[in-house]
Amino acid sequence: MFTSIAGRSVVVTGGSRGIGKGIAAVFAKAGARVLITGRDPGAAQAAAAEIGAEYLLADVARKADCERVAAFAQERLGGVDVLCANAGIFPDARLSDMTEEDIDLVLGTNLKGTILCVQACLPLLARSGRGRVILTSSITGPITGYPGWTHYGASKAGQLGFMRTAAIELAASGITVNAVLPGNIMTEGLASLGDEYIAGMTAAIPMRRLGTVEEIGHTALFLATDEAGYITGQTIVVDGGQVLPESPEAVG
Ligand code: NAP
Repeated sequence: MFTSIAGRSVVVTGGSRGIGKGIAAVFAKAGARVLITGRDPGAAQAAAAEIGAEYLLADVARKADCERVAAFAQERLGGVDVLCANAGIFPDARLSDMTEEDIDLVLGTNLKGTILCVQACLPLLARSGRGRVILTSSITGPITGYPGWTHYGASKAGQLGFMRTAAIELAASGITVNAVLPGNIMTEGLASLGDEYIAGMTAAIPMRRLGTVEEIGHTALFLATDEAGYITGQTIVVDGGQVLPESPEAVG
């Protein structure tokens, strides 16, 4: 049995939908005090009410917004023990017609947004004495590729580069920094990619199903436990075996 994380203060960026909402719900169910963020007021308010969390509207790509998140967490939760830097976007664009704006938007949200959130929460995580940073990366970029996602893959692999040096810099403050690498998880964002995409992905997964947001939440919860306190700078792939087959025939 793991030591309870009840009463810990947890911030989940992009907690208003999808994987972030699943992570927030798992932590709330475990008795943590949770703050979710997002930009759409209706979605954030509804998710917070459903989960029993606080919410704050904030764009992770803006430094001032990330600082507001940290200040709000201090005021409402009394600090930050766990930061789940999850907010992210995955619009697609082929390299041949990708605009500079496309690149800035994806890297600004997924990579710069991750760094800004961690930076803003650092003093509170250090004060915790057992701070945990859990990044939502992806298999796409660190392990696999998919047409249309060169910028996205770069942002998700970039998060891991950030993680490894941050883990070294923050170790002395008792803060661990790890990443969950989801495969294809059924979320609002993924659903928007269409039935054909989902059918193709399901066929490529040995477990023959997409993952659930709770399965990512439970992985994040494990990384937040006292028992995971000696793990830092590491990744956990949660993908139903999707990265394993050498060919479509190998899926079985
Ligand atoms: P989603 O359903 O579209 O949800 C994305 C969440 O992030 C929403 O709460 C959204 O709220 C928030 N968000 C987006 N841009 C933001 C910004 N600039 N500032 C603050 N919040 C922002 O997506 P998802 O599928 O759950 O993906 C969540 C994370 O998991 C992403 O980092 C994604 O790369 C990663 N991931 C997902 C999958 C998958 O299969 N679903 C696989 C691998 C990795 P607002 O739009 O209201 O801001």
